[in-house]
Amino acid sequence: MLLLIPGPVVTRPEVRAALAHDFAPWDNDFRPLYAGLRERLLRLAGGVPGTHATLPLQGCGHFGVEAAVRSFVPLGGKILVPMTGAYADRIVRLAREAGRVVVPLPMPFGGPVDPEAVAATLASDPAIGHVGLVYSETGSGVIHDPRAVGAAVRGAGRRLLLDAVSAFGALPLDLAAQPEIDAVVFTPNKCLEAIAGLAVVLARVDRLVAGQAGSWSFDLADIHAHALRNGWGSFRFTPPAQVLNALSVALDLLEAEGGQPARLARYTANMRTLYDGVCGLGLTPYLPAKAQGPVVMNVRAPADPAWDLQAFVDALKSRGVLISNFYNTPEPSFRVGAIGAVTPDDMARAVVAMGAALDEIGVRRRASALAA
Ligand SMILES: *Cc1c(COP(=O)(O)O)cnc(C)c1O
Repeated sequence: MLLLIPGPVVTRPEVRAALAHDFAPWDNDFRPLYAGLRERLLRLAGGVPGTHATLPLQGCGHFGVEAAVRSFVPLGGKILVPMTGAYADRIVRLAREAGRVVVPLPMPFGGPVDPEAVAATLASDPAIGHVGLVYSETGSGVIHDPRAVGAAVRGAGRRLLLDAVSAFGALPLDLAAQPEIDAVVFTPNKCLEAIAGLAVVLARVDRLVAGQAGSWSFDLADIHAHALRNGWGSFRFTPPAQVLNALSVALDLLEAEGGQPARLARYTANMRTLYDGVCGLGLTPYLPAKAQGPVVMNVRAPADPAWDLQAFVDALKSRGVLISNFYNTPEPSFRVGAIGAVTPDDMARAVVAMGAALDEIGVRRRASALAA
């Protein structure tokens, strides 16, 4: 099955094989594996040992975002969130429910965050301590620029939290060049092409405040303190050991492919095939080609009354291609990922399957009613 959900993604057999081991996570054989993985992940992000640390926790990406918000933004502190789409909405909810004060920055859907708008808002409200930015907004397909936004944040003397969940591994990151970043959050199961079950936060350790999280489970300062006390090969609570082992194999494969630039090049080629193919089918992309990032594409719902998302997803699945069965955009669209262990040939196969699935469910008017 070609999973184009996107995330969890198609993985390579070597990665899945790494799950077939029993581990004692406190054993001396496991500890070097985990400690080494932390170092490799930090290197991938251009982190500075001693300044930054890899602080993983069990669970999904949201857990990592919540841990970052709680650990770096004090209770009652203000965080500015550019409203880029569905995943920015989630930062807002996580922060509010944790008792942090969110200042939403409204912006048009489908364009990049304007660093000047961020700078102007920060200048107008000195109480805002942090900005929460989604690097690759999976809800729209737009890539936002953490360097440009980060420069505005740095210029204002504030701090940046970066949700890089659908970016890390494919899009560039250089923590050493961005001292304003307090935390970067990602998971193994998107552009790193590994298995879900872990959230990773790369964090500025000098900015951690003991107990500020207000939650033992989500306290990055406690995870850091634990590593200092018990060693970098030690997890606080039972770790997903198989997931960590699979991530280690996935990093070998990333390296063998040529690292982040090579992965970005493959995803870019995947997206070009997908985008052109979707247009060739007469469907309407949500974004113009110049705004479309390489991770996920949203396609507007066809105008034909026969259109039905679940029927389309089922017809596509019977042809070996699986996509999400929910809408994530302001107006209805289906989304297709271009990430994972997939190639442009796979994307071409997916486009053929989409055409056949539309025929099967009787969709003739494929353009969106909203198409100009
Ligand atoms: C996938 C994703 C997340 C986290 O999703 P989980 O289901 O919690 O792992 C967060 N942010 C973005 C931008 C994502 O794409």
